[in-house]
Amino acid sequence: MDQVAEPQFPTIGTPPQGVDSASPFEEMMSRFDVAAQKLGLDPGLYKVLREPVRETKVSIPIVMDDGRIEVFIGYRVLHNIARGPGKGGIRYDKNVTLDEVRALSAWMTWKCAVVNIPFGGAKGGVICDPGSLSRGELERITRRYTAELMDQFGPEKDVPAPDMGTNPQTMAWIMDTYSMHARHTVTSCVTGKPLSLGGSRGRVEATGRGLMLICREAAPLKGLTLDSSRIVVQGFGNVGSISARMCHEAGATVIGVSDISGGIWNEKGLDIPAVLKHYERSRSFEGFPGVSRINNAQLLELDTDILIPAANENQIRSRNAGNIKARIIVEGANGPTTQRADDVLDQKGVLVVPDILANAGGVTVSYFEWVQDRAGFFWREQEVNERMEDIMVQSFRDVAGMAEKYNVSFRIAAYMLGISRVAHDTMVRGLYA
Ligand code: NAD
Repeated sequence: MDQVAEPQFPTIGTPPQGVDSASPFEEMMSRFDVAAQKLGLDPGLYKVLREPVRETKVSIPIVMDDGRIEVFIGYRVLHNIARGPGKGGIRYDKNVTLDEVRALSAWMTWKCAVVNIPFGGAKGGVICDPGSLSRGELERITRRYTAELMDQFGPEKDVPAPDMGTNPQTMAWIMDTYSMHARHTVTSCVTGKPLSLGGSRGRVEATGRGLMLICREAAPLKGLTLDSSRIVVQGFGNVGSISARMCHEAGATVIGVSDISGGIWNEKGLDIPAVLKHYERSRSFEGFPGVSRINNAQLLELDTDILIPAANENQIRSRNAGNIKARIIVEGANGPTTQRADDVLDQKGVLVVPDILANAGGVTVSYFEWVQDRAGFFWREQEVNERMEDIMVQSFRDVAGMAEKYNVSFRIAAYMLGISRVAHDTMVRGLYA
């Protein structure tokens, strides 16, 4: 009898042995491959799910304040829309690449499915250094980027949100530009807006609050409680500073924090409200009293119970993973840990709660914002926070259950959960031809 050949997965994501990939998309795909194989995903479906629906590059010509014309490059990737409109932030950073935006868009697909909200995945980025641009230049970049993508954005199609280098003001400019073209005010075309323009209560704090809740849920798995844990946070932007505050308010001892220029550390704990006040005034930790200055490499290797990387990708790599002393890593950033680092951490028994679960509080409250805008009826902050907590706790349990059932890491379990939901809905819809 003829042997039927095992279906082969056209794996593209696995970096060479012992090497961290330089490509965030390869890093994403390497986990996708493992999860797809564990699920026994149909090879045809595998091909459908790995391919982004649409990738757009736009040119953004701007008159700078000094009268010069400068051209910026922007991207928007719509990864998957099987379960609803694309959802995902817009990043302003000088290191933005299409590969990075593609990876971030795919992570959004799996993240929305892990927390079971009716969105697909998308992401955008503009190559620029927001710190060196004036408010007027940032506004012109944002408006032109939005106008170029006018046909793609929309409450039913693709709904942006803040990410690194963008904030509620950026979202207000997007909403206004979209609304001017539409000839009526469309608040639900973007989330993370200021409260007075259809923003949701609790959105600014949502990612940090969600991270704190995940720390609370994960701690007992290593014999800890959140209020007896020492915490280190890398990155002091929206996600890092608010997760530090939330963990501090929950009784944890935050012993180290950092931004791109380095960090501060005190083994007895930092006075986080005072650090926040100082940082708000000077945009730096410089001059904060009673602490030691450390660099980011030292910060990641501090003796701590929980580490929250909340800066950017590829911070924990094969070369430093062996030195990590944290017992739990709760990923605030997207893609902070490479696959090779995951292997090292697994062997050391470190519990890694992956980005697509841990930082999903932000997109969950973005979903609530979209719902509220469409209903024209706004919820109390307590209601927002309670509903978000329900979703985060349930999602944590779903992923933990999957990890136990299949004897896999939390990362692979989260991918399996996300992929299986998107695969199921794709099958039920069928392929239009
Ligand atoms: P942000 O721009 O507000 O802050 C980024 C912070 O990281 C800054 O403090 C910056 O100084 C620091 N940083 C940048 N590069 C660094 C480096 N190499 N080493 C140390 N610190 C560095 O951005 P954010 O919105 O807080 O996003 C941070 C991460 O969280 C990103 O990976 C983003 O995709 C992810 N994320 C954000 C949200 C959100 O709601 N904003 C939601 C989910 C995930």
